[in-house]
Amino acid sequence: MKYQLETIPVHDAWASGVPCPLCELMDRAEDRHVAYYLGNSVMNPETRILVNDTGFCRRHFPKLREANHAHHLGLMAHTHLQTVRKKLRGEIKMLARSPSGKTASSFAEGVEKMTGDCLICRSMERDLKRYTYTAVVLYGQEQDFRSLFKSSRGPCLSHAAELALMAADVLKKNDAKNFLTGLAEHMDSALEVLEADILHFTRKFDAQNDHLEWGDARDAHARVVQALSGVKVRLED
Ligand SMILES: [Zn+2]
Ligand SMILES: [Zn+2]
Repeated sequence: MKYQLETIPVHDAWASGVPCPLCELMDRAEDRHVAYYLGNSVMNPETRILVNDTGFCRRHFPKLREANHAHHLGLMAHTHLQTVRKKLRGEIKMLARSPSGKTASSFAEGVEKMTGDCLICRSMERDLKRYTYTAVVLYGQEQDFRSLFKSSRGPCLSHAAELALMAADVLKKNDAKNFLTGLAEHMDSALEVLEADILHFTRKFDAQNDHLEWGDARDAHARVVQALSGVKVRLED
């Protein structure tokens, strides 16, 4: 499958020196989607039908609340709630009529289904495919990007896995081999540096080590969290 290339944002993200370029791109994509669902799309009947039916997950519904667009959030929340009530009506009635482990489970399953799907997650999955596709293609085509890739701090583990899968899926056999070798070697040394940084970070809390410079270790705790969770976190304390 072919995806659209996003050359400029991908190139810029890898040049920016962040802990993971893909976490950074996905964080921006997430903000864009949150703004979209609170914007004029609220008035678009097709989008409203999608929102009513699918809704948002535990991460993204609260983000819509925090974005401070009370009126649009209210309109969307009203019709979505109506749909949710309609969908769960059967399970709620059954739970009242014959309360048991079985009806409790089917009620719980209904709730889980409702909170598990998410329009913003769906859009972000598509974004991630485009970004990882672009990165693996650029790696094969541009010496400049390859150098950026090799000198960058990231990607985090989960985005490294996405890149590996994308390369294996879309590149020609030899190109995929080159990319996967380059990725593996880069990850090996990036994780080694990260481990050295977090060790140095912990040592800096010992008064005996006051004389040591922080070096690159000041935000190592945050970078380890990001490397292992795959979500952009705050670097400064
Ligand atoms: Zn990442
Ligand atoms: Zn979501």
